[in-house]
Amino acid sequence: MARYRDAVCRLCRREGGKLFLKGDRCFKPSCAIERRGTNPPGQHGAARRKMVVGYGQQLREKQKVKRMYFILEKQFRNYFDKALRQKGVTGENLLFILERRLDNTVYRAGFATSRRQARQLVNHGHVVVNGKKVDIPSFQVRVGDVIGVKEKSQTNSHVDAAWQTAAGRGRPSWLTADSGVAVSVSSLPSRQDIDPNINEQLIVELYSK
Ligand code: SF4
Repeated sequence: MARYRDAVCRLCRREGGKLFLKGDRCFKPSCAIERRGTNPPGQHGAARRKMVVGYGQQLREKQKVKRMYFILEKQFRNYFDKALRQKGVTGENLLFILERRLDNTVYRAGFATSRRQARQLVNHGHVVVNGKKVDIPSFQVRVGDVIGVKEKSQTNSHVDAAWQTAAGRGRPSWLTADSGVAVSVSSLPSRQDIDPNINEQLIVELYSK
C-alpha cells in the first residue's frame, strides 16, 4: 500500500499549523512549528506564503484534514462519496467516518500519542476489538465496541507511556475508559468532539465542483 515517507513536520508547515503527527514532540519546544514558524517548507518558503481564497482555500482545507488523519487521496475521496450517500450533513458525516476509524480511535483513547503511532499499533496486531485482534486501521468502530490492547502488549513502553498521560491529553466524550488498558465506545462522535478549526464545508464545496 502506498504511504507517505517524507518528514511529517513538513506537512504541518505546509498547512500553516500543528497537525500533531509526532506525538509528544508536538507539545515540546522542539516542534518545527515552534522553532521555525508557519512558513511553508523549503528555501523560499516565506516568499510562498500568500493569502489563499476560493479554490485554493478549499484545497488547503482538504489537504489539512487528509494529512491530519494521515490518509491518502483515493481513500479520502471514497470516504467523501460514502458521506454523501448518508443522511445528514455531508461534511459532518465525513468527519464522523474519519473519527470512527480504528487507528483514530486508538489515538483518541490514549493508547498512542499520535495517529501514526496508533496506526502502527493496529498494523502490528497489538489492538483488540471485543477481545479479537483487528489489524485493519480503517475498521469502523461501533457503539458498544470495547477497544483494548493485547495483554502482552500492555507492557510495551510506548503504549504504557501514552496510556499514563492519556487523561492529561483529554479523551472525547464518546469513549469511556474501562478497567485495564481499554475503552468502550459509549456513543457516536459528535461535532463538538472534533477539532473546531476544521471547516468541513470547504471540503464539500471542493468535491462538489
Ligand atoms: Fe507538526 Fe508535531 Fe512536527 Fe510540530 S512536532 S511540526 S506539530 S508533526
